Amino acid sequence: MEIDRSKISPMMQQYFEVKDKYTDCILFFRLGDFYEMFFDDAVVVSKALELTLTGRDCGLEERAPMCGVPYHAADMYIKRLIDMGFKVAVCEQLTDPAETKGIVVRDVIRVVTPGTLTESSMLDDGSNNYICSIYYDEENKTCGVASADLSTGEAALSFFEGKDLEAGVINELSRCRPAEIIFPQNFLSLKNAAEFVKLRLSCAVTLRDTICFTPSERRDMAAAVFGVGSVKELGISEDGADCAAVCGLFDYINDTQKSSVSRFTSIELLNGEQFMGLDLNARRNLELTETLRSKEKKGSLLWVLDSTKTSMGRRLLKNWIEQPLKSPARIIERLDAVESLYRKSVVLTDLTDLLDRVYDLERLMTKVMYKSANPRDLKSLSATAQQLPLIKQELAKLTDSKLLVRYNDEISTLDELVNLVENAIMDEPPISVKDGGVIKEGFNKELDELRHIMNNGRSIIDDIEQREKESTGIKNLKIGFNRVFGYYLEVTRSYYDLIPEGWIRKQTLANAERFITEELKNAENAILGAKDKALSLEADIFAEVRDFLATKLEAVQKTASAVASVDVLCSFAEVALRNQYVKPDIAIDGAIDIKAGRHPVVELMLTEEMFVPNDLYIDNKADRMSIITGPNMSGKSTYMRQAALIVLMAQIGSFVPADSAKISVVDKIFTRVGASDDLTAGQSTFMVEMSEVSDILKNATRDSLVILDEVGRGTSTFDGVSIARAVAEFICNSKKLGCKTLFATHYHELIGLEDELEGVKNYSIAVNKHGGTIRFLRKIVRGGVDESYGVDVAKLAGLPAKVVTRAKELLEEMERQHASERPASVREESGQISFGSLGREAALDMLEKTNIDELTDSECRELLRDMLKAI
Ligand code: ADP
Repeated sequence: MEIDRSKISPMMQQYFEVKDKYTDCILFFRLGDFYEMFFDDAVVVSKALELTLTGRDCGLEERAPMCGVPYHAADMYIKRLIDMGFKVAVCEQLTDPAETKGIVVRDVIRVVTPGTLTESSMLDDGSNNYICSIYYDEENKTCGVASADLSTGEAALSFFEGKDLEAGVINELSRCRPAEIIFPQNFLSLKNAAEFVKLRLSCAVTLRDTICFTPSERRDMAAAVFGVGSVKELGISEDGADCAAVCGLFDYINDTQKSSVSRFTSIELLNGEQFMGLDLNARRNLELTETLRSKEKKGSLLWVLDSTKTSMGRRLLKNWIEQPLKSPARIIERLDAVESLYRKSVVLTDLTDLLDRVYDLERLMTKVMYKSANPRDLKSLSATAQQLPLIKQELAKLTDSKLLVRYNDEISTLDELVNLVENAIMDEPPISVKDGGVIKEGFNKELDELRHIMNNGRSIIDDIEQREKESTGIKNLKIGFNRVFGYYLEVTRSYYDLIPEGWIRKQTLANAERFITEELKNAENAILGAKDKALSLEADIFAEVRDFLATKLEAVQKTASAVASVDVLCSFAEVALRNQYVKPDIAIDGAIDIKAGRHPVVELMLTEEMFVPNDLYIDNKADRMSIITGPNMSGKSTYMRQAALIVLMAQIGSFVPADSAKISVVDKIFTRVGASDDLTAGQSTFMVEMSEVSDILKNATRDSLVILDEVGRGTSTFDGVSIARAVAEFICNSKKLGCKTLFATHYHELIGLEDELEGVKNYSIAVNKHGGTIRFLRKIVRGGVDESYGVDVAKLAGLPAKVVTRAKELLEEMERQHASERPASVREESGQISFGSLGREAALDMLEKTNIDELTDSECRELLRDMLKAI
């Protein structure tokens, strides 16, 4: 609405002064016990949160639209707005209304955005909440991606250049799944990455001014965040895109937090080389952390592997799953640690019991740093710290794992923290410091005295009464209390002559007079003031204790990270024991050899059938492509995903579901599986499928593992089979590629590739057809199948009997027709043209009958090739 600012009330003037600076936010404007929203904000928010829209006089003819939320429940409303994609600027009263003449000073103390949340109440325990900052240097063609989780103090930085730049950025964003991304305008010239952010990531996006990313302007600020003199000390360049991304990130964080609190102690420098490449498709298709359909954890790999006891461990496990390692040495380190725990199951049990008592050190420490920790938070920190010596004791028993020894070294016992908290804070403190009762007896002398006065107020008064009685001889002298005068001495009429000089008369009653003395007044002040003083002293002492803990940030952070790692390794060992996994052998000869492998998730989800284990052998040489045929529902996808998951599990350091497994480290896993869920992005299934395949062909290397499920299904059989075949040929023949590939298809024509291409082997999933019904044996066997069993599977799926019978009729009819037409036609069922097996005469005869005009160019070429073979 149009507002004439010259006419509005002074408070509304103040409102607009603030609002003008935060036009992209909802402004929560503090008025007493409420946060109020006005004008457009009020209209939008009242709808979004179903609040009543009221009005407030604002100096204009019409009242200003207004809605509000009570201050103590604000977090809940803010969280809901953030989830809906809004940002919220919280504007507080900065002066005490009782002591302010005129308008209370107000300003924004924090901007809450999806990527900058710190409150555990607004966050999921088991997931990080990342914000990513991207800077693209158009001149040098380099890009930096910096990420941070404000609630845990983790920060990371990646740098990309060369032809894989965009793929690298996309993969890094897929790994982090940020809640918010910030970038300057120039990022938009990275078309693919920008489109990826727009279409594939459902996160808040904030465009920032380029100046915020300028190293010369911001690098000192960025260095200060980590408490170092120069960004170089962190391993960051001084002017590159990496530095720019970090500058932009912390500039934004400072802007939103409105404080320069440093929650960060280090930044992890990632290079694409450390981790297995996984694009968003692979992460989703393999259902690493959530299922494809319901987006739930149950049914994902994370669900199977998560036996962690701490929130920190849960978050780290998710991160490990999202970034499998490539270095055989690092993988083996983790596997050895798991083996050590697996073997010593008593230690494992003791450790998990201890870890169960560990609280979220990282997020507790965030509260300490942001001064929002309450007394119970400090107790939780101390309770956790008290487990540390015991955890170390257990770890000390596992000297055969270098990694566990290292983690043990990194865990400090945080004795000072425990001592201070245990000496200072009551055993079961209240949540808030506000009402006192937080600091222990004996910790602070002054506080003890004040408390003594508070608790013994009456006996101090009784003492005075007794003394005055004796010195004056007034036998029935009494000290009473009322609200108007406080404590007073009361003398009845018969003793008036004994009243000493110096007593101050306050009140005369019918039969008595009331007095005060200086001593009584002092005692009264001490007693009444003691409570307020004690409360404020307690708050000061509490703040001191909390601030002392803040100085331990680095040790706590390091300890937290080591404890989280131990938790994940314990979880791996426990899951391995529970599900009978084995330790994989890590190799580098390019072969993957799995005996009796199982799908980690499907085997746990099956209720009626037993899971049937299967072998797999694939390498970079004679067995690099497996073409897998078999009817729908026979288990092709399961088999291929199982292979990918076993490799991935091995590379995160987990044991694997198999009797034995030799795994050569792969650099990337690609999947092209089933109908993609990207239809919403406005592309046809076929377009999505083809662009995914083309991505794979462009980005896979010899060391990659590629899983192709039904390539070419989105188009006509004729096109489909040609594409599928061309893709298989390209992968097998290309020198650069030749990667390990599992290719499931229902195009039986591809079976022929085994004889034509080096490296291809046919496999199929056995089925048993008995009478009119088929039974899936789930067993993978050498050789292809050329029957589709489509109608039989449809029957199994519960298609009405009538439809099944009719389908069978039609099928038989078509097969008959097909058989009778066969000699006269060059087209086979699949649409593929094939003269290859005919003799010269027959081939020429067929050629005559072919209507060349009906064929496409590529079919003509194919036909010519076949002809050459035949004549
Ligand atoms: P396809 O890809 O051939 O259509 P799927 O891999 O989707 O078939 O498997 C269909 C179902 O069969 C799975 O959901 C699972 O319940 C079951 N299944 C697959 N493989 C096995 C196996 N090895 N043992 C037991 N059940 C299996």
